Amino acid sequence: MTVRAGREFLAIPGPTTMPDQVLQAMHRPALDIYSSEMVELTESLLRDLSNLFATAGKSYIYISNGHGAWEATLSNVLSRGDKVLVLESGRFAIGWGMAAAAMGAEVEVLKGDWRRAIRPAEVEERLKRDKEHKIKAILAVQIDTASGAVNDIEAIGRAIKAAGHPALFMVDTVASLGCMPFEMDKWYVDVAMSGSQKGLMTPPGLGFVAASDRAWDAHKKADLRTPYWDWTEREGSEHYRKYAGTAPVHLLFALREAINMLHAEGLQNAFERHRLLGEAVRRAVAVWAEGQVLGFNIAEPNERSNTVTTVTVKGADPAAIQRYAKEKCGVVLGTGIGDLQGQAFRIAHMGHVNAPMILGTLGVVEVALTALGIPHGKAGADAAIQWLGENVKA
Ligand SMILES: *Cc1c(COP(=O)(O)O)cnc(C)c1O
Repeated sequence: MTVRAGREFLAIPGPTTMPDQVLQAMHRPALDIYSSEMVELTESLLRDLSNLFATAGKSYIYISNGHGAWEATLSNVLSRGDKVLVLESGRFAIGWGMAAAAMGAEVEVLKGDWRRAIRPAEVEERLKRDKEHKIKAILAVQIDTASGAVNDIEAIGRAIKAAGHPALFMVDTVASLGCMPFEMDKWYVDVAMSGSQKGLMTPPGLGFVAASDRAWDAHKKADLRTPYWDWTEREGSEHYRKYAGTAPVHLLFALREAINMLHAEGLQNAFERHRLLGEAVRRAVAVWAEGQVLGFNIAEPNERSNTVTTVTVKGADPAAIQRYAKEKCGVVLGTGIGDLQGQAFRIAHMGHVNAPMILGTLGVVEVALTALGIPHGKAGADAAIQWLGENVKA
C-alpha cells in the first residue's frame, strides 16, 4: 500500500521544483541567435543578474553548472602558484578549493567544522599573520548546502577589511541567491557566483559570475585564463561572444521567466517567505529532536540557513526515512553528503516553495518516523503550523 499517486515532490536542495510558468516559457521555438530579440534577452538578464548580486560590476552567463562557474571564477583572476585561502563550513567551499588546487593554485584551508558557520574573527586573525600578502583570494560559501550553515558574508567582508588585507573575496551563492539578502558591493565581495537550479527555479545548466573592478584588475594579470571562461573574450563586440558560442536559448527563456516571477513577488517578499518557511521546518525538527534520535546538524540556531536544513539521525537509518518518504508518500528528501553520509537527511526549502509544499513535506517525515517506529517528539508538523499561523499575519 502506498499513498504516493500524483506528482512526486522534490524536497532536495537542487535541482529544485520549477514553476509551471518557467517550464512553459521553454515550450517554444529557438530564437535566431543574431536577432535583436536575442540581444535584448541577454542584456536584460545580465542587468538583472548584477542587480540580484547587488553589484555595479558586470555579470557573465555560462553554459555550466555550479562547478563550471567555480572554474570560471578561479581561471579569470588567478595565476599558477597563487595562494588561496578556503574558509571551511561544510563541503562546498572545500570543493571549490579542490578545483583551485587542481588548476595550479596553492590552497590552504582555514579549518572550520561541519556544525558551525565560519568565524569572522578567525579569518581576520589568519589574514593579519599573512604580512607579505601571499594570499591572493579567499573562498567562502554563503550557504553550505551539505551542513546547512549560513555564513555571515557581511561580517567576513568586514574582517578582511579590518585585517587590511588585499586578497580578493570570492563568494559562492549557489544555494542562497534569490532566497536571502546578498550585497556584493556593500559587503566587499569581489567575485560572486551562482547557478540556475536552486533558488533561481530554472533548469540546471546555467552558471553565473559577477566581477568587481578589483577582480577585473586581477583578471588583467591572471595566467589561468582559458578561452571559454574568459571575461575579456566575452566583452567582445559581437553578441555571439557573450556565450563563447551558441546561446543556451531555452534556458535563457526559463531564467527570464523565473526572474520575472521573483520581481513580481518582490525580492524582499521572497526572502521573507524563505525565512518563514525555513523557521517552520526548524520548529518541526526541534520537536522531533525531543526523541533523541533526530537533531540539527548546525549547533547554533542563528547559523541555520533559510534554504536547507540538515537533520542528523543517530541510532536509526536516515536512508530508511528517505526510502519511506519517497516510495510510500512521493516526497524525495535530500541525502546526507560528505562527512554526514549515512548520518543525516536534508530538507530543502529553497526556490519555488510554499506552505503546502513545506507542511506536506514535514507531515510526510512525521508519517515516516511513525511508520518506522523511530522515537521522536510528537506533533512537529503541528509546531510548524502553529508558528506559521502566528507569523503569517491575516
Ligand atoms: C549545488 C551547489 C554547488 C554545485 O553546483 P552544481 O550545479 O551541482 O555544480 C556549489 N555550491 C553550493 C553552495 C551548492 O549548493
